Amino acid sequence: MKQFKVSIVVPAYNEEKNLVPLSEALLPLLKQYDDYEIIFVNDGSTDLTLEKCRELHKKDKKIQFISFSRNFGHQVALKAGLDFATGDCVISMDADMQHPPRLIPQMVELWQKGNDVVYTIRQDSENQSFIKKLCSRCYYFVFRFFSGLKLPSGTADFRLLDRKVVRVVQNLSEKTLFLRGMIFWLGFKQKALLYTPNKRWAGNSHYTIRKMLALAFAGAVSFSVKPLRIATYLGLITAFLGCLFTAYVLYMKLWNGAVISGWASIMSVLLILGGVQLFIMGIIGEYIGLIFIETKKRPLYIVEEKSFDNKEPF
Ligand code: UDP
Ligand code: MG
Repeated sequence: MKQFKVSIVVPAYNEEKNLVPLSEALLPLLKQYDDYEIIFVNDGSTDLTLEKCRELHKKDKKIQFISFSRNFGHQVALKAGLDFATGDCVISMDADMQHPPRLIPQMVELWQKGNDVVYTIRQDSENQSFIKKLCSRCYYFVFRFFSGLKLPSGTADFRLLDRKVVRVVQNLSEKTLFLRGMIFWLGFKQKALLYTPNKRWAGNSHYTIRKMLALAFAGAVSFSVKPLRIATYLGLITAFLGCLFTAYVLYMKLWNGAVISGWASIMSVLLILGGVQLFIMGIIGEYIGLIFIETKKRPLYIVEEKSFDNKEPF
């Protein structure tokens, strides 16, 4: 069998208590492979995550780290890890042990059998709140509707990528990232694996409602122009209903001599129309915002410190 290297990429934001247990769980599993590396991406943590990364790297040179100048977000941290990873296959996972490390040998085995992407699907478990489960379900439904991609509900950012897929992802230059959708969109030979998430080891979830909404918007508007088309249809439907109503008013006046009276009817039409217009403007605004962000051509992330010398991303 050809020798190969396994890379593990772990975004970490305020995970000081999780990095050591995670390394202890990963290292025994990784020792069976010819070569391996763990890359922690410190996403502008405000606790001792960076110090923990430095300590772990000092003890074991197979553990590497990249540290951002500030918090750039989970998706960006994942992308940075993929940019710097050198393995023949690269596995991304969370730092909080919710993605069970014991699945790694199975993922590598599936990769050796010729799969280019081994992604995982989260099974519902009592370790997640009801609200989070419900939001997740709705979200995947909306995403599938907008993007036309059959992304299964619960697809996680716990996945293995073959080197050739990593190279493609490295070259994706877009700034609005929704990696699980983007990788699904890439094609190649993909295989799904089911898993039940563990309870978070230490600390709390960093996915606030605001961050979840940002990810949801990124997924909804960055894959297609379907929302714009829906806005067009909405405008057409509203105009059509307006015409019907006008015809009705004229009919009442000409045939029955009646004038529909009322402040209430004017107000409701005004509010509905105003709402529809603002909604459509909001959708257009989202797309203009995306164009604005892309045209600025700012770097996706800024690395302040890293454990390896002279190594530029890919
Ligand atoms: N994370 C990150 N940057 C952020 C938020 C989260 O790198 O701004 C990391 C976090 O350290 C963890 C992973 O992304 O390794 C998933 O985050 P979390 O466990 O908080 O989310 P949840 O599992 O609750 O969806
Ligand atoms: Mg988590």
